[in-house]
This record gives sequence, structure tokens and C-alpha cells, in this order.
Amino acid sequence: MVFHGPGDLRQEELPVRAPASGELVLRIDAALTCGTDVKTLRRGHPVMIPKIPTVFGHEFAGTVTSVGPGVSRFREGDRVVAANSAPCGDCPSCRAGRPNLCDDLLFVNGAYGEFIVLPPRLVARNVVPLAASLPAERAAFAEPLACAFLAIERARVESGQTVVVFGHGPLGCLLGMLAASRKARVVMVGKSGWRFDRLKNLGFARWLDAATAGDVIEDIRGATGGRGADVAVDATGKPEVWEQAVDAVGRGGSVVFFGGCAPGTSIRLDTRRTHYEELTLLGAFHHTPEMFRRAVEALESGALIPDSLITHRMRLEDVGRALDLMAKGEALKVLITP
Ligand SMILES: [Zn+2]
Ligand SMILES: [Zn+2]
Repeated sequence: MVFHGPGDLRQEELPVRAPASGELVLRIDAALTCGTDVKTLRRGHPVMIPKIPTVFGHEFAGTVTSVGPGVSRFREGDRVVAANSAPCGDCPSCRAGRPNLCDDLLFVNGAYGEFIVLPPRLVARNVVPLAASLPAERAAFAEPLACAFLAIERARVESGQTVVVFGHGPLGCLLGMLAASRKARVVMVGKSGWRFDRLKNLGFARWLDAATAGDVIEDIRGATGGRGADVAVDATGKPEVWEQAVDAVGRGGSVVFFGGCAPGTSIRLDTRRTHYEELTLLGAFHHTPEMFRRAVEALESGALIPDSLITHRMRLEDVGRALDLMAKGEALKVLITP
């Protein structure tokens, strides 16, 4: 599936080229749709898609079908999962241990295809072999889960804390599941509807319906003995919800701004609380090779089982329809198998 610009996704036959030095060719075994693809299809994406036309889709796992010269870590037949980016390892951010902020992050697309060629930098830094027990459709969650890991790590979520997650899209759910796997008490805030009902069985401590709750913040305070949450995470990308996330934490609380808002927006901030209550306000963007590996480990060990987030299964030629379902809010994750 080739992206030619906003609203223009085409099914095309392209040759699978032989891998050059340092490259791998994979057969895609499983790909997942992502809200980012929906946004990109609507209006393009300056960072992930610097030039068009381009192959499309970025969450995938596959099997190595050919190995370029100079690659010694992988051989034909290996099952692997690859991240959708690779840092340079050399810029000030990379050297400071924050490779997600790399000045020259290399993005890779092409999950919605039968085959994908992985560039040398990705092969060297961000491709992980899979245990035989980990099915490709679970492994394909490694990329979004790695983003969730980065956020949960930045907030230092630990056992016994109350963590409020605003938004119950796939990433909100992964964030909640990850916090719950650390034995935090997770409160999900969303809007009622089929997703809400479906996710009720994920085992979170509490669900708050933002649409019917009179005052979500009061409800959160009520659920925490008046104290407020230890950690609040926004996974909606809405400035007004960022503000709610700040209001939701108590003294010494941490707020993670995970959902990216529209360019040019801003929020109001209670300076008094921020200072006297020592709030920690954290951005969280993308993932690092370390978080990607930890995500694969969590999927492999079964610490996190994401299966319930897959609401539909479709073939490659139906990607357009799958992204349409996502856009209408009728699907969480669609599993695409060639
Ligand atoms: Zn994604
Ligand atoms: Zn770098």
C-alpha cells in the first residue's frame, strides 16, 4: 500500500529488491493499524513521512527472507520485530542517553506490504529476534508498547500508586495495562460506548465516564481519599484534557503529556500548585532502543497480553477500509495479514 499524499493510498505491485550491505528483507507476518496512520492519511506527516510517494504502515513483525552483506546477527528464517525508527547514536541527544530525541531519527515505513526492506541503521540498532512462543500478531505491538514504556518509565510508576489515564484508545489502554502490570491502581477516564464496555474486562481498578461524570476531577479525588492521583497521563492529545491531567494529581504528583496536541495550542497552568505542591510535568515522545527491547520482553514473558486490543482482522487490500474504521472510532487495532 503506497501513500501518495493526503487521502491517496494506492495498492501497487512493487519489486522486492535484494538487500544491500547491512540490510534485511522481511516477509511481513503481521501488521497493526495505528491512529498515527489515520492522521497521516488525512493530512500527511512531516516527520514520519518526509517524502512521497512512500510505502506505508509502521507496526509489524516478520520473518527474514534475505540478508544483506555484512549482517551477522540475523539469518534467513529468523522471526523478528523491528521498530519504526532508528537513532543515529552520535548527536548530542543520543550521546546524552535520549535517543528518542535524536537530531536525525530515521523513520521506516512499509508495514502494509508483503515484504519490507530494513535499512542498515535499523538492522544494527532496533531489530529484535523473537522467541518461538511469541506470535507475530503480539510482537507487532512492540512499537506502540515501547512508547507506553517510555511514558511509564518517565513517571517512575510503581506499585501501590494511583495512576489516572485519560483516553482509552489503544495507547491509553497499553499505558493503563503497563501501569497495572507494575501493580499500580489504574483509573481509566474515557467516554462510554462500545470501547468502554469492551475494555471494562481488562481489569483496571476503576473506569470513569468523562461524558456523564459531573466533575471528573472531583471523582478522581473521591477515588483517592481526597488526595488526587500520584500520576496522571494524557493519551488524548487535547489541551483541555492536559489541563485536567494536571488537576488530577495530588501533592508531589507527576503528569505525563503523552498525546500530542495540534500545533500552536497551549494550556493554562496553576503556578501556585505547580510550585508549592512540587508537580512534575513530563513530555513523553516516541521510544528508544532500550524501551523497544523491554516492550518485546514484556510481550514475550506474558507480563502484558495485548490481544484484546485487536478488534478486527483484515487482508492487505483492506487497509484503506481498516483505517476508515479507525477514523470513525469503530476499531481499536486492526490486524493486517498479507
Ligand atoms: Zn503507531
Ligand atoms: Zn542521534
